[in-house]
Amino acid sequence: VPARQLPDATTNMVCGYCSTGCGLNVHLQEGTAVALTPTTDYPVNLGMACPKGWEALTVLDSPDRATVPMLRNASGKLEPVTWDTAMQTFVERLQGIQKQHGAESVAFLSTGQIPTEEMALLGALTKFGMGIVHGDGNTRQCMATAVVAYKQAFGFDAPPYTYADFEESDVIVLIGSNICIAHPIMWERVMRNPHDPEIIVVDPRMTETAMNASLHLPLAPKSDQTLLYGIARILIENNWVDHDYIDQHTNDFQEFREYVAQFSLERVARESGLSEQQIQRFAELIHDGKRVSFWWTMGVNQSHQGVRTAQAIINLALMTGNIGRPGTGANSITGQANAMGSRLFSNTTNLLGGHDFANPEHREKIAGILGINSEVIPTQNSWAYDEIIEGILRGKIKGLWVICTNPAHSWINQTQCRDILDRLDFLVVQDMYGNTETVQMADLVLPAAGWGEKEGTQINSERRIGLVKKLRPAPGQALADFSIFKLVAEYWGCGDMFAQWESPEAVFQLLKECSRGTPCDFSGIDDYEMIDKAGGIQWPYPEKRADNAGERRLFADGEFFHADGKAKFLFEDPRPLTEKPTHRYPFILLTGRGTVAQWHTQTRTRQSAVLRKLYPENPFVEINPADARALNIRPGEWTIVESQRGRLRAKAMVTHAIKAGQLFIPMHYEPTNRLTDPVFDPYSRQPSYKSCAVNISREGF
Ligand code: SF4
Repeated sequence: VPARQLPDATTNMVCGYCSTGCGLNVHLQEGTAVALTPTTDYPVNLGMACPKGWEALTVLDSPDRATVPMLRNASGKLEPVTWDTAMQTFVERLQGIQKQHGAESVAFLSTGQIPTEEMALLGALTKFGMGIVHGDGNTRQCMATAVVAYKQAFGFDAPPYTYADFEESDVIVLIGSNICIAHPIMWERVMRNPHDPEIIVVDPRMTETAMNASLHLPLAPKSDQTLLYGIARILIENNWVDHDYIDQHTNDFQEFREYVAQFSLERVARESGLSEQQIQRFAELIHDGKRVSFWWTMGVNQSHQGVRTAQAIINLALMTGNIGRPGTGANSITGQANAMGSRLFSNTTNLLGGHDFANPEHREKIAGILGINSEVIPTQNSWAYDEIIEGILRGKIKGLWVICTNPAHSWINQTQCRDILDRLDFLVVQDMYGNTETVQMADLVLPAAGWGEKEGTQINSERRIGLVKKLRPAPGQALADFSIFKLVAEYWGCGDMFAQWESPEAVFQLLKECSRGTPCDFSGIDDYEMIDKAGGIQWPYPEKRADNAGERRLFADGEFFHADGKAKFLFEDPRPLTEKPTHRYPFILLTGRGTVAQWHTQTRTRQSAVLRKLYPENPFVEINPADARALNIRPGEWTIVESQRGRLRAKAMVTHAIKAGQLFIPMHYEPTNRLTDPVFDPYSRQPSYKSCAVNISREGF
């Protein structure tokens, strides 16, 4: 490499895509980022990165970046305006709506992609400064189920694990989790496991992960809760449970034991479509394991009964004492880079730091730290995402501020969602790209800086707080979301309330204080520099320790966060599929991540030619050869897939990966959610993306 092309400095920071939170070394020439490589000594990725991480710089230079505020004019076109005009319009329109229809008539939808400090500022600004009551994040689409499952079972939203557990288990159970492509660096950690672990994959599809399993259980869609109750019964019947652990550290086991007695092997086999031998083998492998870890993600979370299914997994870990020890745990894998920050500090469902809006002591504590009057803190929780969308439909919400998310692509039952967004009096979209499906519907577009153009912290799946840094200026007039929120506060007239929130690091200091005394206490961290030097720090971290970077898992002492220190067994009757196949719609459609190279609605990843090459440009649908033959569909032919709600064109991918009677379409393609069925878990309000009834035919027939 010629000397002129060699970097003159290197800095490290965490990746801004997924919840793995890999460390990346960014190489600089005269202060400008010119290349990156995975950090070899970062405790998360140990020198590895997936294609999205390798391409993280490329997507910043896209011609599709939003670089100037845009306002829709009288003839319906978006045209550039100054930040002053944009802010004046923002305030005039949204305050006007609130004046006419009440404070609750303006809402926001945000994200798990921005740093914790920005999320916290947004939550405080909207709820304490702007009088907004309803605001939610796109984390509702991926993690809400795990949050509720943990809170009810453990007393706090606390994924207990550390990534080293992937390497220390002798049995790894993956339920509704295709980590081989969704969390590839976690999968690499599995591959490094020296104990030759048994890998059990519970998934209707023969996913990339299932292909590498020692036992794949291709169960009927959404029969997972039934299967897990059946496994619990087998473990109990054989006395393969840890009575000491159950007695000392849990409540309600006796009720659970009586409840699962009805899940006979014969019943579970009938309802799951698995053989009795497969089910029995699953239970035996759990029994044989010395260190069994249970992992789940969207296949469980995105379900009409996600919370109780997640708790059925937690129940198995509790009853076998597989929690709090190396290589064990009931472990929900998060989705977005900072979904964990959002869960604790976005101020949507929890008051900052996991506090309760309804608790007067919590309100006083937070008000004291922030130097505000506790009366400005609302006492009620926000509506969930679906309730906000429903609120627009009912005319209760007239103004919406969307930050770094793309509901016109990603929300369930997309056609209806777009129709509802169209009814708004005023839609503001703040995004780093100027061409997302939601930006195209906006009345006002606010151009935002992206990862690498601003600083802050993110919390990854194993609760590790990592640092993102500003490597380069944002293009044009784009501003960090933090600066946009501060600007809004000034124009709205509540800027004084946020005088202390002068920089992301100043906010980090405030959030440390908010966390003090809670299960997620990280008040022992001094500052950003300490995080940087330590290679990220996992919460809880209430006091400074010598081994800053050391791993830690929760519940090693068997103490949970409920008042009596015990975890709870929770269970409920499984509910049938909300939309069963019919004569008109005889297939069950599964959706999910289709590749390691794409991310969510592709807003960022489609900006990289390398990532585009790694994934088919046209939507495709996986269909079993028997079904394809019966319908005279040949590989690569265009098909029409339709549900009660809409239709799309997709090329046929004929494969045994999908069972007969089922189809699979990746979620990254724009039309996929035209088909999905808007049903929700009753406790978490998380949408059920994973099954709906559809038909498929050759195009033109
Ligand atoms: Fe980034 Fe996730 Fe890929 Fe790691 S696995 S490089 S965090 S996208």
